[in-house]
Amino acid sequence: MAIDPDAAEPLRSQSDLLVTDLRSLATGALVAPEHLPPLAAAKSLLGWHRRHRFCSNCGAPTRLVHAGWRRDCAACGAEHFPRTDPVVIMLAINGERCLLGRQSRFAKGMWSCLAGFVEPGETIEDAVRRETLEEAGIVCGRVAYFASQPWPFPMSLMIGCHAQALTTELKVDRSELEDARWFAREEVAAMVLREHPDGLTATHPFAIAHHIIRAWIESDQSFF
Ligand SMILES: [Zn+2]
Repeated sequence: MAIDPDAAEPLRSQSDLLVTDLRSLATGALVAPEHLPPLAAAKSLLGWHRRHRFCSNCGAPTRLVHAGWRRDCAACGAEHFPRTDPVVIMLAINGERCLLGRQSRFAKGMWSCLAGFVEPGETIEDAVRRETLEEAGIVCGRVAYFASQPWPFPMSLMIGCHAQALTTELKVDRSELEDARWFAREEVAAMVLREHPDGLTATHPFAIAHHIIRAWIESDQSFF
């Protein structure tokens, strides 16, 4: 994963090597689950080093220190630390229905939670409400944290939440989403189990969205 695509190509012909990427490692369960966090850290850090060779304060070259967990600028003395970008990913719920969206890059028939970057000055709750309103026109009330997942593509932290939808009339932002719509709980359960009659699916268990959706499906009480 630290190899340029051009440099990786000749290695593909070696029968004793498997050339792959982190996403395939995770989705294909090619390594034990406990090995994924250090691999994710390595991918985020290597990507950060590649993009932060120069000081964002004065423009001079920076150098790697602290075993790669910091870069220092000799010209102005600035210390640069690896960054993590918070992203909210949420399932808006209205009674027995939930809101799922599709991006055009998704596999055919796959639906997932809405998501977006947290903006400066925002709480997680505010970001959930703003993104759901911007992308689908839905006003949310209460927001409940569920779980988080590092997402090193390139360096995000996915913050999973459930949100109480206060309105139901959709106004989809087509520049962000191919589509968004409400799904009944039974329909989503069929999608998660990959038993939907039209072949619709929810995201892979590798992604936190799957678990956010599943927690709602399997809950025997009303979320909000
Ligand atoms: Zn500097």
